[in-house]
Amino acid sequence: MTGQCLCGQVTYTISGDLIRTAVCHCDHCQRQSGGAFSVNLVTAAENFAVEGTMKMYGDPGNDPSGTVHVERHFCGDCGSPIISIATGRREVVIVKSGTLNDKSIISPDVEVWCEKKQPWVIMPEMAVSKERE
Ligand SMILES: [Zn+2]
Ligand SMILES: [Zn+2]
Repeated sequence: MTGQCLCGQVTYTISGDLIRTAVCHCDHCQRQSGGAFSVNLVTAAENFAVEGTMKMYGDPGNDPSGTVHVERHFCGDCGSPIISIATGRREVVIVKSGTLNDKSIISPDVEVWCEKKQPWVIMPEMAVSKERE
């Protein structure tokens, strides 16, 4: 699988099978994407290769101490979100599926952060997880 940001400065390749494909309704995914949810591809870190220069926002989530829990990497030129890395789970990379070149291969298999789902969002039947993406 290959993908790129809107301007093309950042490109990436995912090799091997995805661990899962998660629809994330969390407030931070809504803000970062400017949409109602993110569709996140979870892949082993060793299967992800990126070219180009990304900027990073250290996201503390709702932690009042300000400790960074999610690194949100994006293209500094066009602003496209590319990947997130949970600081406590660096063995996986979470790729924003809207940046894929061929999006027809994507099939979400789990929803997370459903308590933040916008009320008009209707999804096909899939598993629900309390894990956080
Ligand atoms: Zn770009
Ligand atoms: Zn999220």
